[in-house]
Amino acid sequence: MSPEISIVIPVYNEEESLPRLFDELYPVMDKLDRSYEIIFVNDGSHDKSFSLLYDFQKKHLETVRFIDFNGNFGQHMAIMAAFLHVRGKYIITLDADLQNPPAEIPKLVQQMDAGHDVVGTYRQNRHDPVFRKAASKVVNKITNNITGLHINDYGCMLRGYSRRIVDIIAHSNESTTFIPALGQKYAVNPIEIPVNHREREFGTSKYSMFRLIRLNFDLMTSFSLSPLQWVTMSGMGISILSFILVAYMLIRRFIIGSEADGLFTLMAIQFFLTGISIMSLGIIGEYIGRIYKQIQKRPRFVIKDIWEKKDSGDKND
Ligand code: UDP
Ligand code: MG
Repeated sequence: MSPEISIVIPVYNEEESLPRLFDELYPVMDKLDRSYEIIFVNDGSHDKSFSLLYDFQKKHLETVRFIDFNGNFGQHMAIMAAFLHVRGKYIITLDADLQNPPAEIPKLVQQMDAGHDVVGTYRQNRHDPVFRKAASKVVNKITNNITGLHINDYGCMLRGYSRRIVDIIAHSNESTTFIPALGQKYAVNPIEIPVNHREREFGTSKYSMFRLIRLNFDLMTSFSLSPLQWVTMSGMGISILSFILVAYMLIRRFIIGSEADGLFTLMAIQFFLTGISIMSLGIIGEYIGRIYKQIQKRPRFVIKDIWEKKDSGDKND
């Protein structure tokens, strides 16, 4: 029989956090008094995460399923793989590092009971370095503007989705994506609620600055063409300005005669325009790169094993 709730947790080198996550998750889920399953996805960890998850699944055959990836395909692909395998009516995603406290899960379930098909969350009393908080505030605002979506906090992965939404997400065939944005896009009755947030106690963030920027490009290119329209608009703007400049210079030429001043001004303008040209090529390249990846049609992730209880017993026993 299908469980009512599926909890989805991507895991990448979280050996220190996992034991405490296991300890915190069960009391919360049992208290809910609903049938549930927990799906872990091991995203190519090279620490002890695999063996911890393996043992845990063996101990909790009835409730735990475990998807083991063939390598590191990223957090969003890990969630995508789980979405293709979940059986629950409500699906809740959660980070493995305990920054999203499992104790918040009942709040999400309550909102889904009230009929919301996507329950987004934003972090109350967020414990992250100040510069990261400020940066994500700006990034959230820009991202909302570009994508036309309204998400308060793109970085909080504690989210609930109805079965219908998860099916739509799982069958969106894009090679790079951002799960909360896909959910929001197809939601009919979404809501956002504040949740507690904890400091990362063990290990470090799996996102370097460079990786975060790349993830943001994935988000923007997946949900909007407006960066390309900006390129076109800025090209048009610059053409109009330079037309006016040429007309002005011509008039000066006739009135004042030949002039050879302003070499440095010219250089500054030239550098500025070169910058814009390179950036524009980059923006176009971001889209072309993704088209290239998409038409290669390589698998978005490769599953090595799924450890779960089958009707005829545990798959791997
Ligand atoms: N994660 C993953 N694959 C990755 C990077 C991260 O499965 O390539 C998982 C990670 O184990 C954690 C969640 O995604 O459960 C969020 O990662 P992290 O806490 O490093 O992100 P942050 O909180 O710093 O944004
Ligand atoms: Mg984290």
